Amino acid sequence: MIIDSHAHLNDERLYEKTGDIIAGFEANNIESCIIAGFNLKSSDLGVKIAEKYNQYALIGTHPEDCEEINDVVLEKYKKLAQSKVVVGVGEIGLDYYYEDNPAKEKQITAFEKQIKLADELELPIALHVRDAYGDCLDTLKRMHAYLNNGILLHCYSSSVEMVDRFNEFDCYYALGGAITFKNAKKDEVIKKIPLDRLLVETDCPYLTPHPYRGEMNEPKFINLTIDKIASVLEKDREEIIDITNKNTKRLFKKIRWIT
Ligand SMILES: [Zn+2]
Repeated sequence: MIIDSHAHLNDERLYEKTGDIIAGFEANNIESCIIAGFNLKSSDLGVKIAEKYNQYALIGTHPEDCEEINDVVLEKYKKLAQSKVVVGVGEIGLDYYYEDNPAKEKQITAFEKQIKLADELELPIALHVRDAYGDCLDTLKRMHAYLNNGILLHCYSSSVEMVDRFNEFDCYYALGGAITFKNAKKDEVIKKIPLDRLLVETDCPYLTPHPYRGEMNEPKFINLTIDKIASVLEKDREEIIDITNKNTKRLFKKIRWIT
């Protein structure tokens, strides 16, 4: 069955429907989801949801909220990480897309601190990178000594060439609804990602796959992303599900704890 490796059931738009969404997992061939945090508050909520419904959670602060990162917040993350449902640190990273995002230096500092946090907790990191792939690579190079537990590029949206660069760090790549968009042109990227490093995700409520673009995204739509990957790679959808399930469990080792 499918694992949605990045879902925001902690988003206020989905939170109210969480019970119904998870009740529908089996009918939609979904084994479980990983609820990604984007700041302390949403990480805390994600852990609570995951504990209540037997799912998993990532804890961390998105670059847009990076100004909240300080020693007190990092301590709170360490406490949260004691929960069995916490399988990684994320989403963390760099986002230079919006002009009013925090300054690059602030983003990089918060990114580095959370990379160290993940290393201390012996957890993999899930990265959000937008218009900042170069600086992300530089940061990973600088922080190499702290990268011992795996790296996931969530919603990978860069080029074929960049896959080569990130492969040097043995990164995993999660693909989501964006690959189904009519203008996506991501077939070559899908083919380029090593099969044993490929994960799937929704990033719900964002990035709803075609043909439901415009509607709010939910984990069930991950089936459309599976279909797209299967058709590009000319493989059976069951094979893609099996491969991505195994990859997700290899990267997020703590998932085994529950299943
Ligand atoms: Zn996200």
